[in-house]
Amino acid sequence: LHDQFESEYELDTTTLDGKHIQLLLNAGLEVSTELTNAHFCDGVGLYRTEAWFMQKSRFPTQSEQETWYREVLTSYHPSPVIMRTLDIGGDKVLSYFDVDEENPFLGWRGIRFSLDHPELFLEQLKAMLKANAGLGNLKILLPMVTNVNEVEEVKRLLQQAYFELEDEWADQFYQIERPELGVMLEVPSSIFLLPEWAKKVDFCSVGSNDLTQYLLAVDRTNSQVAELFDSYHPAVLRALHQIATSCNEYELPFSLCGELAADPEGAILLVAMGYKSLSMNPSSINKVKWVLRRLKIADMKILLNMCLQQSSAIEVHRMIRNFIISHG
Ligand code: PEP
Ligand code: MG
Repeated sequence: LHDQFESEYELDTTTLDGKHIQLLLNAGLEVSTELTNAHFCDGVGLYRTEAWFMQKSRFPTQSEQETWYREVLTSYHPSPVIMRTLDIGGDKVLSYFDVDEENPFLGWRGIRFSLDHPELFLEQLKAMLKANAGLGNLKILLPMVTNVNEVEEVKRLLQQAYFELEDEWADQFYQIERPELGVMLEVPSSIFLLPEWAKKVDFCSVGSNDLTQYLLAVDRTNSQVAELFDSYHPAVLRALHQIATSCNEYELPFSLCGELAADPEGAILLVAMGYKSLSMNPSSINKVKWVLRRLKIADMKILLNMCLQQSSAIEVHRMIRNFIISHG
């Protein structure tokens, strides 16, 4: 079956009724292996910069970061690379930065950490901007955003980064382009701020792993409650549907980069909701592509409407399985 998925890796991800779906890569560790694994993808939908920070024994310098980001951006150029700023905290810890919290997932995570350490954050932003000079395929994504003022503060720091680079780079500064800026939708509050995001950012990306965790109040790393962690829970599906509807209404480009997109069953529902861009781990791309190429959006929408009316994840899974069987 694996070979069967592989056989179409070079083909476009277009549904039977002709809709193109962008399939992007979740990456963060080793560009070369990720590239070979992924075969054909439309770019990188989530570059987890923290993966590399976690392998180090100290905070990387700005120039180390620049070299590393440049390698990523050139490898995928001209396809877009969405780089997420440092997302530590929760389950992601740095051996060289001790944090002791009672509730790490509700604590000092993602953008909260970066904004409390503007000196480190500025280094990262400047490294990204320099790495993007003359290339222009970088987009910057902010993790764990819950408040509008966080984005405003990031914009202020980005502006500061430009000013500092203008001084430092003088002659070459003209090459520095302004990347698009986006927020992750992974905390329930961010869904209700979509009208604000539409005015303040260029795009958004749903993190279905954390969104599931926070909507259902289930620690994503706790095996005791692992069965309760289910992105097919009707509340999660309805939230994802609402995001797609609102983003379309506000004309805010959106995609999804959590594990749900890597599961063909999830990808079917997401495409039916209106997600035209899905980002996933390299090993799932061919499988998701293979399935989407065999279905019509109209049929997926019928399935979605039935799923949205179910009251449990078990019923949703059953519906999708029946659908897949009846569509061969
Ligand atoms: C997510 O939360 O869904 C996500 C993509 O980010 P991470 O898994 O790195 O927290
Ligand atoms: Mg997350």
